[in-house]
Amino acid sequence: MSVRILLVEDEAAIADFITRGLIEEGFTIKHASTGTQAWEAMTTSDWDLILLDWSLPGEEGLSLLHRFRDSKSNTPVMFLTARDAVSDRVIGLNAGADDYLCKPFAFEELLARVRSLTRRHDVQPSTILTFDDLQIDMANQRVDRNGNRIDLTSKEYVLLTLFIRRHGQVLSRNDIYEQVWQEPYDGISNTLEVHIKELRRKLESHGKRLIYTIRGQGYKLEGHYETA
Ligand code: CA
Repeated sequence: MSVRILLVEDEAAIADFITRGLIEEGFTIKHASTGTQAWEAMTTSDWDLILLDWSLPGEEGLSLLHRFRDSKSNTPVMFLTARDAVSDRVIGLNAGADDYLCKPFAFEELLARVRSLTRRHDVQPSTILTFDDLQIDMANQRVDRNGNRIDLTSKEYVLLTLFIRRHGQVLSRNDIYEQVWQEPYDGISNTLEVHIKELRRKLESHGKRLIYTIRGQGYKLEGHYETA
């Protein structure tokens, strides 16, 4: 499983630059651009690292971090901010940030710090994720539905976990290609359709439909989500 990073950043150009760079390095990235989106993502999914912008529309990064640490989460958090005063660094680190990087920064520096922060946490406990009647053993990449083992290829597994992490959201073809195949959709290939068809066939042999086609937009997974 690749390392999963939540990027909280409201400036599209910076978010795009970081996302592309980290995907190229093999990380899995989810992007949130407002305080509300960030809190939702921080509290409904497990991350190996959170890259947190300080100034955000809605709730600010500092406040999000305070709440996050109050909820006893120890996921590493790195602030990305234009605030370079020593007093701000101290406030950020005191709030529970593990690192602090001032904008503008070179991608290589970000990458070095991301690697360092995720290395310390790369021993992953066995995690069973439950989604509707699916059970996903994240450590062993094993999927069961209603007690039936479902054999997935590694791409199908990555595709399924992407849908589960972003359940209820419509994922465009481009989104999915970038996350699963780490390249933009070329507009022609039917690789994704073939994988969706196969994933549905395997999942639906033991239960109802979970992955829906949203015409002209992409795909969406719907069902009941809980972490166990
Ligand atoms: Ca900002």
